[in-house]
Amino acid sequence: MGDSVYTLGIDIGSTASKCVILKDGKDIVGKAVVEVGAGTTGPKRAIEAVMKDANLTEDDINYTLATGYGRNSMERANFQMSELSCHAKGAYFLFPNVHTVIDIGGQDAKVLKIGTNGILENFVMNDKCAAGTGRFLDVMSRVLEVEVDDLGKLHFESTKKINISSTCTVFAESEVVSQLAQSTDKRDIINGIHRAVAARAGGLAKRIGLVDDIVMTGGVAQNAGIVDSLEKELGHKVLTSPLAQYNGALGAAIFAYQKYSKNNK
Ligand code: ADP
Repeated sequence: MGDSVYTLGIDIGSTASKCVILKDGKDIVGKAVVEVGAGTTGPKRAIEAVMKDANLTEDDINYTLATGYGRNSMERANFQMSELSCHAKGAYFLFPNVHTVIDIGGQDAKVLKIGTNGILENFVMNDKCAAGTGRFLDVMSRVLEVEVDDLGKLHFESTKKINISSTCTVFAESEVVSQLAQSTDKRDIINGIHRAVAARAGGLAKRIGLVDDIVMTGGVAQNAGIVDSLEKELGHKVLTSPLAQYNGALGAAIFAYQKYSKNNK
């Protein structure tokens, strides 16, 4: 593989395992996601999948850095790092003018304040409650018998405003069941659910202060209905990338490159 440097970033979340391989710290040559996270076979399978995607073997990798909730279980990694730093790094790579990152993952939501040069300045986090996280949407999609991937599309087909007033996942689930029993259109319920999640994340974001560009990351950023609701809640443009769920793994792969370069000067 010549003199190219390949670095692997692994983000082991609570809900999904993500991998990114970078060539020379700047070109993404492989990515993979497995929809199970810490404590499962997800990380191992994600590594196998990313090697296949990049057409590389583990021997080709110069440095591996693990991040996320399950990072400490990744013994083969050369280094472990907090997902806050990695998310800041990844978002700055994708959007050089980023100053706020709103990350909604499977079991937590966090808002990061980013200074110049992509440095993490401050953060706020909700990891105590499922409301306002991917878990909330996963639970609701099950009750609604709709795939999580389809929530975004259905959101935009809503014609009537329904408010989900419970902030607790368990009570909100009962509210959704009750709406379904009254034959309320699923698309209106979905729109209401998205506004409820956006209100939670928006509250978190307002606590830290909003500075453009605002970037949304994490698996939930793939839901265009959430992005739409968040923009309305905040009154600001919210940017996303098709790489949103890989953002932490991308940041990890960039840090891996920097560590490798420092060690091999
Ligand atoms: P974590 O890092 O906490 O494991 P992720 O950032 O990987 O979490 O996000 C996982 C969440 O993303 C899950 O709740 C899942 O439902 C949601 N998700 C994954 N793919 C999609 C999609 N295509 N559309 C909407 N939500 C999605």
